[in-house]
This record gives sequence, structure tokens and C-alpha cells, in this order.
Amino acid sequence: MSTLTGPTRDHLDWPFFGPEHRAVAERLDAFAASGALASVDHHDTDRACRDLVRRLGDAGLLGLATGDAGKTAIDSRAVCLARETLAWHDGLADFAFAMQGLGTGAIGLSGSDELKAAVLPKVTSGEWISAFALSEKEAGSDVAAMACAAREDGDSYVLDGEKTWISNGGIANVYTVFARTGEAPGTRGISAFVVFADDPGFSITERIDVIAPHPLATIRFDGCRIPASRRLGAPGEGFKIAMRTLDIFRASVAAAAIGFARRALDEALAHARTRKMFGATLGDLQLTQASLGDMATGIDAASLLTYRAAWRRDVQKLPTTKEAAMAKMTATETAQSVIDRAVQLFGGRGVRTGEIVESLYREIRALRIYEGATEVQKLIVARELIKAG
Ligand SMILES: Cc1cc2nc3c(=O)[nH]c(=O)nc-3n(C[C@H](O)[C@H](O)[C@H](O)COP(=O)(O)OP(=O)(O)OC[C@H]3O[C@@H](n4cnc5c(N)ncnc54)[C@H](O)[C@@H]3O)c2cc1C
Repeated sequence: MSTLTGPTRDHLDWPFFGPEHRAVAERLDAFAASGALASVDHHDTDRACRDLVRRLGDAGLLGLATGDAGKTAIDSRAVCLARETLAWHDGLADFAFAMQGLGTGAIGLSGSDELKAAVLPKVTSGEWISAFALSEKEAGSDVAAMACAAREDGDSYVLDGEKTWISNGGIANVYTVFARTGEAPGTRGISAFVVFADDPGFSITERIDVIAPHPLATIRFDGCRIPASRRLGAPGEGFKIAMRTLDIFRASVAAAAIGFARRALDEALAHARTRKMFGATLGDLQLTQASLGDMATGIDAASLLTYRAAWRRDVQKLPTTKEAAMAKMTATETAQSVIDRAVQLFGGRGVRTGEIVESLYREIRALRIYEGATEVQKLIVARELIKAG
């Protein structure tokens, strides 16, 4: 059992943050201290996720992820701090928070006023759950290979095809769906749509179990007819909309990774201080100190890249494609290595089911794959550099 109560906040002194960000961190700490996270029963993942969304909504925290239901610009630093804090406490809480933003980000960016009014307040209050449906079995990293199609028919669109790996699939009320509309080949022939879980022709065909339980599914459209007013942006703009949405949230994946890594370091430090070994403690051994030094330095380096990307977006109002990619790949890879070192420091206990570091070890793995695998982030950075030259 862990005796730790919350993350340390040394980095809030960095120049990236203002008093409003310190206030966000305090709100999140108060939320965690209230027992709202600890009292969720994680045995039923769907139910736990619904509970978490409700509790986050009741506490007024989901507005951070939706730009106060579309009324304000999303503050990337606040989203990153929220994800870092939630991930420190509970990976599923971080997931529940983040998906309310990712699932509706495209609606906030490109939806009509009617769509925004119909969806964003419900998602912000926690009444509705949202999802982002881009990936397909044959189109993960290679988005241009997308086959799911939407055909215009009078004042409707008819969707046919399948999406997989959809977070919140099965429990979401509203899905942002990307489908081929064929204006041009590849990524220029994709449009974005809003689909509701009760639209006729929409179904869940498979639930997917992963090493760190999250609601995840394959979803299917069989002649799924939706009003044309549910298209987001212009025909053929879907890929751009998806990338703009991911640009907002990519740095926040890095922040979640940092939250997991900080928790692993905090657990490792607490263990190293008390574990008796060779007439001393684990923390007295120089090899342990080298490990802890590497862990702490890696975390701060990843945090600096992450909050640099968020600050650049919020304050400089500049594109962050390159900066967010650097942050995401560095933070997720660093977190994996930090957590692995923490498991090692715990010895046998590190791999025992129920230990915090054991769950962090499972929790971090998918972050190196989704929203663009590390290899994809490297290509993004290189392309941006070459383009700028
Ligand atoms: C837990 C989880 C949640 C997810 N949630 C969502 C969601 O909500 N919505 C959604 O749309 N999708 C979601 N995904 C899907 C995720 O975005 C894809 O898994 C990811 O894009 C990789 O696609 P893929 O799985 O098809 O792997 P592939 O595209 O087959 O890639 C396999 C591997 O190839 C490597 N690779 C990729 N590109 C290159 C390259 N150019 N050169 C060399 N190597 C390369 C990478 O290591 C990659 O991991 C989720 C995935 C997971 C695991």
C-alpha cells in the first residue's frame, strides 16, 4: 500500500505558469484529497469510467478539457497539469478526463453553433461521454489508408465501414468520426462527422481488452444515416481537423506520461529510504542513487519540453506540431524507462499484482503507441525541420 498523498509541485515555479495554473493544480489536489478518485470501484472498468467522468464533471474540472464547453480557448498548460495530476493518482481518471477533450475537440474547432450547443455542455457536465474515431484495422499510423466511407445523399450522409481501438467505444454517447468522402486521394479526401450512439446503423462489434483496462471497442457503421449538418468543417477537411485536434492534445499525452513517471519516482524514493539492505538502506547504495538521479533528470527534461510546447501554443499562439511531437516522444519513452527502473528498485514486489509500480508499468505502455507512435513523432519532427529550412 502506498502512503503517498499527492505529487510534489516544484515545477509550478517555472516561468511557463501563471497564478491561474497554480490555482488549477490546487483544485485538482483538493479533488483528489476529497476521496473522489480513491472511492471509485475499478473492478468494472465501464462503470468506473462513467463514475469518474461524473465526478470530474460535478467538480467542474471537465471544462478544462472542453474550453469551458467551447466558450474559451483550451488552455494547454491547464490541461497538461490536470492530466499530470490525475495520472499521478489514477490512470483511468486521466483517461476519462482526456477523452472528454479529445472526443469533442474537433466539434469545438469546426462544429456549427447548434452542434456545439447540443454536445459540449453535456460532455462538460459529465452527463455524456465522448470518443474520437480515426483508426481502422488497416489504417493506424497510415491514416491515408482509411476505408470507412461517408456518401452524401440529399441532406444526409450515409456512413459505412469500421473503426477500431476506439477509446470509450461502448460507453460513449457521442463519437467524432473520420470517414472517406473522396474529394481527393489520400488524406485530402476525408471528412469529419458527429455520430450519436443511438443513430440507426451504428453498432459496437467488439470490446477490446488491454493490459491496463480502459473502455475500448471496434465500432461499425452499416448504412448509418446522419444529417449533413453533423459534418464538421468543409468536405475533405477531416484530416486537417484531426491533426489540429491531435496538436492540442498531443502535449497532454506527454503530461500524462510525466504524471505516471513522477508517481514511479515518488514510490521508488519512499521505498529506497526505508528498504533495509546490506546493513544500510537501498537508497544508501550508489547504484540506487545513480538510478534515482537519472529518473529525476529525465522527468524534468521531459517536463520542460512538454510545458514549452503548451506555453508556446497558449502564449505565443504559434504552431506546436514539432514541439508537441518532441514532448510526446521524449516524455512517453522517458516515463517507460523511469517506471521500469522503479519496478527494478522494488525487486519482487515490483511485479506483484496490486503494487502501484506494477500498474504504472502496464499503464504507460500504450502511450508510446497511440496518438502517433514514437517513430511517427520522430518523422514529424524531421519533416518540420526540413520544411523550415
Ligand atoms: C489503448 C489504445 C487506445 C487507443 N485509442 C484510440 C482512439 O480513441 N481513437 C483512435 O482513433 N485510435 C485509437 N488508438 C489507435 C492508435 O492510435 C493506433 O494503435 C496507432 O495509431 C498505431 O496504429 P496501429 O495499431 O494500426 O499500428 P501500425 O500502424 O501497424 O504501426 C505499428 C508500429 O509500426 C511502427 N511505425 C509506424 N509508422 C512507422 C514508420 N513510418 N516507420 C517505421 N515504423 C513505423 C510503430 O512502432 C508502430 O507502433 C488507440 C490505441 C490503443 C493501443
